[in-house]
Amino acid sequence: MFSLWLKHQCFIDGEWCDADDGATADIVDPGNGERIGSVPQMGTAECQRAIGAAQTALPAWRARTADERARIMRSFYEHMMANQEALATILSREQGKPFLEAKGEIAYAASFLEWFAEEGKRAYGEVVPGHAADRRIVTLRQGVGVVAAITPWNFPSAMVTRKLAPALAAGCTMVLKPAPATPYSALALAALGEQAGLPPGVFNVVTGDALAIGGEMTRNPLVRKLTFTGSTEVGRLLLRACADTVKKVSMELGGNAPFLVFDDADIDAAVEGAVVSKFRNCGQTCVCTNRFYVQDTVYDEFVAKLAQRVSTLPVGYGMDEGTMIGPLIDIAAVHKVEAHLEDALAGGAALLTGGKRSIRGENYFEPTVVANVKPDMKLAREETFGPLAGVIRFRDEADAIALANDTEFGLASYFYTRDIGRVWRVAEALEAGIVGINTGLISTEVAPFGGVKQSGLGREGSRHGLDDYMEIKYLCLGV
Ligand code: ADP
Repeated sequence: MFSLWLKHQCFIDGEWCDADDGATADIVDPGNGERIGSVPQMGTAECQRAIGAAQTALPAWRARTADERARIMRSFYEHMMANQEALATILSREQGKPFLEAKGEIAYAASFLEWFAEEGKRAYGEVVPGHAADRRIVTLRQGVGVVAAITPWNFPSAMVTRKLAPALAAGCTMVLKPAPATPYSALALAALGEQAGLPPGVFNVVTGDALAIGGEMTRNPLVRKLTFTGSTEVGRLLLRACADTVKKVSMELGGNAPFLVFDDADIDAAVEGAVVSKFRNCGQTCVCTNRFYVQDTVYDEFVAKLAQRVSTLPVGYGMDEGTMIGPLIDIAAVHKVEAHLEDALAGGAALLTGGKRSIRGENYFEPTVVANVKPDMKLAREETFGPLAGVIRFRDEADAIALANDTEFGLASYFYTRDIGRVWRVAEALEAGIVGINTGLISTEVAPFGGVKQSGLGREGSRHGLDDYMEIKYLCLGV
């Protein structure tokens, strides 16, 4: 089953194909260093062909009724769920996350197809009361056209469907460039979409050179929208590159999520929330907590309980039963965790648990907690993207809010309190697109996901997610 969906070719215009020059890139399991296989190393020409195929497929796909598109998307969802274990195996092997988390991601990824299949039927326009007696005004919502998508390695399946599902529902076609480290989950989606009945050219997957493919995607006037999830640094480059052809853009960029624990919080619940929000996917999600702020009076209790709980998290290979902390994606990610830890310890932070590479292998790092962290340390200013939790003290609510907002990022934020007035005050004051209140898990297809400040533009998921793939056209009718 695993090998059935493991595709070593790209998918353009309904055909499985190699790079024009036959070039390939090896894909390695980050958990054991084994080569899984190789995928085409494509560039400008292949990407241009894929965009052409998406443009050719557009009129017929757009002309279908929302219900016809929904039936194919529903079938796509069912194919994903019927193959959940095989897809989770591919995902865990190429990305490293524990198999159970990988299964969860496949269900989450599939949920976007199911949700947007339904939501596409409700892309209503409106009748606007006219401005003159002899005029009538009507609005239509129409798919934007050919969409180019660039996705990251941390959620190789869900980051694809979160873009693909609203695009398909809106009547758009797509060319996708998955992250170089994790192409297999995306290629498996192409195969499942084909099985579900997506016509040729509607969904194309091109693997290879990021600069060449990204360059073509941003330059090509046929592409009407670019949707990207990744770092703020690359997002800025892509935004600039899209300016010449004035594309519509969605940007899901970096985060630096704060997690506030007030003195009236349920501390045990806060510790559980802290663990899921920090250590899921080995700390490699853009909504992972990056900075913990705990009120003076409960600080010692919280850090002691957090360190105790974190010291019990089993580190291991993603496919081994019981693993909760898998490998990091590569050695550079380990180096970043080490640099942030070193900087914190040099500045006087106290190591409570973890603190070194795991004996499991070179990409593994022990889940780590450090206390007495200062707001100007690297681990509080930059996204660590690893299993390192640093805890900072705060005095009062105003202090906590000021510390939380002292960043150019604004994606997720979390806080724990049982005071209803504080819930409203803090939720309104946090500069973030997403606020988890007394919970560390906030991702779902039904809610609008996205950031403010330099964390991005646009929303994915929910009914608002469809708007990002549609344009409003207004008809002014003389009567
Ligand atoms: P991460 O830190 O998650 O690797 P990146 O922003 O580097 O984030 O990568 C996210 C995606 O963007 C990947 O698919 C990567 O190949 C792609 N990418 C990186 N640099 C560029 C670029 N200059 N042009 C287009 N795509 C890029």
